[in-house]
Amino acid sequence: MESPAPITELTESHCPYCALQCAMTISSAGAVSPRMFPTNQGGLCQKGWTSSGLLRSPARLTTPLVRARGMLRPAGWEEALDLVASRLTEIQAQHGRDAVAVFGGGGLTNEKAYLLGKFARVALRTSRIDYNGRFCMSSAASAGLRAFGLDRGLPFPLTDLGEADVVVLVGANPAETMPPFMRHLRRAADGGGLVVVDPRRTLTAESASLHLAPAPGTDLALALGILHSTVADGLLDENYVRRRTTGFADAWRVAAAYWPERVERITGVAAADQRRVADLISTARRAYVLTGRGAEQHATGVDTVSAWINLALAHGLPGNFGSGYGCLTGQGNGQGGREHGQKADQLPGYRSIRDPQARRHMAAVWGVREEELPGPGPSAYELLDALGTPEGPKALLVFGSNPAVSAPRVAHVVDRLSTLDLLVTADLVLSETSALADVVFPVTQWAEEDGTMTNLEGRVLLRRRAVQPPEGVRTDLDVIAGLAHRLGAPGDRFPTDPEAVFAELGAASRGGAADYSGVGYERLKAGEALYWPVRGEGHPGTPRLFTDSFAHPDGRARFTAVDHTGPAEPADDDYPLTATTGRVLEHYQSGAQTRVIEELKAAVGAVFVEVHPDTAARAGLADGELGKVVSRRGEVVARVRCVPSARPDVVFLPFHFPGVQRANLVTNPALDPMSRMPEFKVCAVRLEAVA
Ligand code: SF4
Repeated sequence: MESPAPITELTESHCPYCALQCAMTISSAGAVSPRMFPTNQGGLCQKGWTSSGLLRSPARLTTPLVRARGMLRPAGWEEALDLVASRLTEIQAQHGRDAVAVFGGGGLTNEKAYLLGKFARVALRTSRIDYNGRFCMSSAASAGLRAFGLDRGLPFPLTDLGEADVVVLVGANPAETMPPFMRHLRRAADGGGLVVVDPRRTLTAESASLHLAPAPGTDLALALGILHSTVADGLLDENYVRRRTTGFADAWRVAAAYWPERVERITGVAAADQRRVADLISTARRAYVLTGRGAEQHATGVDTVSAWINLALAHGLPGNFGSGYGCLTGQGNGQGGREHGQKADQLPGYRSIRDPQARRHMAAVWGVREEELPGPGPSAYELLDALGTPEGPKALLVFGSNPAVSAPRVAHVVDRLSTLDLLVTADLVLSETSALADVVFPVTQWAEEDGTMTNLEGRVLLRRRAVQPPEGVRTDLDVIAGLAHRLGAPGDRFPTDPEAVFAELGAASRGGAADYSGVGYERLKAGEALYWPVRGEGHPGTPRLFTDSFAHPDGRARFTAVDHTGPAEPADDDYPLTATTGRVLEHYQSGAQTRVIEELKAAVGAVFVEVHPDTAARAGLADGELGKVVSRRGEVVARVRCVPSARPDVVFLPFHFPGVQRANLVTNPALDPMSRMPEFKVCAVRLEAVA
């Protein structure tokens, strides 16, 4: 292990949680205070304000744990690392390289994501690596690549939104998930131009000038209806479509059949409101279409996002200064986490693992023979689904993720985890996944280590080590390197100093779409605003993409012909309601971090089911009583929260809670054919009283 730099009294850093990465100052005692920064403009949400609780939490792990006779017992670092390395070697010798799988996370720093991908491909030489971002942003990433040839959440600085007259926000609830983001929507909201598309009357929808509440799973049809109005009412930006795009005729052939009155019957959104949105966008000086998980987490997630991108293209928004299309990433490093090689099908620099040139480049950077690099592996759900099967992995290493709560078809995944010969985790606290593990490594967290994150606008941020970590913990980089060396990798191939790892990541990404070769810690320490690609040392970075051309070889964006098919599991007589899932203000992802913070737990300590009072009454339930949400896959026990503004045909479950409260006991694991995203946002359920 290398010695880190000494800690100063006050350190400028960023929040441990979501992709807004709000700026904060952290004292050496761990107290946090907000800091002015373009993205959060001096704001923090409850999670950020209480994040110091994570540093001081009594739930922190401070010693490795090893399972013996069914129980986890404290162990020394050398014992735990030796044990894991020898078991991995045995398992691979017996069952082959792919018998070991790695599962990463979208909250890991760029350095960790990079070293984890390298560890899988160079030290383990397994193709089986994927990460929880597959369940998060993968549909928008696929749709962005298809339309623009390049995917960056927001291809423009967030502050550009502050100048917008119109913002159409589809399936996103930033007023609860990232509250300071709402500051950028004030102008649009004050001028009557904030349109929110969401089946729920969320806090964000409350701020909207126009709230459209389509039936869950019909937002693709809604986008087709607004596109139809755009063309039928003569609002198409023909000049832009001709100069900067291809494929409009094919897309229109489908949209032509979705006149607004027909779309009203499918979605429940009034035809007049569809026309109003088309008109609002076309008359705005500056307009944006933004999508979030509500549009993306469907078995048709890629096509749904494509439908909204088609609408943005029809109005000439992407690549036009002061307008555009973007996706709001959710996890802290949702953007960087998908660029550096922890995805099943990608190598660092956001390159395809199938691309012979990218493979040659990475083999040279890593000092291995090209033919030694594994090919693409299965996607996250498929990887978890195969655990312990005759052909599947026999060992799994989990970093920065808690699939025992967050995985689709979660009861089945927990069964699969229990069949493994070896489950290893690196964790801050004993998460539900770590509680099942054979070996748990206690690791440092955000303010206890240096590392970079790439926020939702593609800007690379340096999070500095601000406090002393508890005695006994090591960094994830130490764990990865410790295992790699025991598996035979030469010492200099797996550095543990974050700056050295970042320098290697820069070389690995050179020439790729997400090129970090010009970033470097020194420029970040100097406060430079660097948005990727940053192509070499003197390069200023790229705050705005697509201003001259898109990233396809012909420089044009692509319309895609997409059609509405509806949810994979529509409501029926047995399961007459539709369940949808999401986040609440107080918690983050599986809740492993936020559920240990007293203030957040006191505010929302358990799952609830949000439902219209009449729907609750039909099930014999009243506000505050315990109900059961039942689907074909399982049931969730939840306290009823009656909300008069809820759609009577929809119930909502937050997904942050463990045990019988896990929302993914009921959700549908049907996968998008392109992104392999599960359909978290729609499944058929019924509501029952608890006997
Ligand atoms: Fe900001 Fe997100 Fe942290 Fe809240 S959770 S303080 S919105 S970065």
